[in-house]
Amino acid sequence: MRIDTYYQCPVCQKAWETESKAIICRNQHPAIKKQWYTCGVCGAGWNPDAHWGEKGAAKQARTCEQKHQKKGEVEEVSRQTFFLSGGLQGKYYP
Ligand SMILES: [Zn+2]
Ligand SMILES: [Zn+2]
Repeated sequence: MRIDTYYQCPVCQKAWETESKAIICRNQHPAIKKQWYTCGVCGAGWNPDAHWGEKGAAKQARTCEQKHQKKGEVEEVSRQTFFLSGGLQGKYYP
């Protein structure tokens, strides 16, 4: 018997004879752009790749924002979201 060694690119699973070639292969793959539709108030997000699609995800996010407006909690929830997310989501109302 014999043992064949090869190095696999973790992204495309292609086999290479050296580790450095596999790493070069891995680094050549572009980053995958992902978008989420996020409620601007509470930061809840919907994935447009999921079953509801792009329009559905946008609708969910808008509906969520409207829900906060109806409840009159936009400022309060935005402020909470702002601090919980370290300033990435929500909005700070001084
Ligand atoms: Zn690859
Ligand atoms: Zn929300």
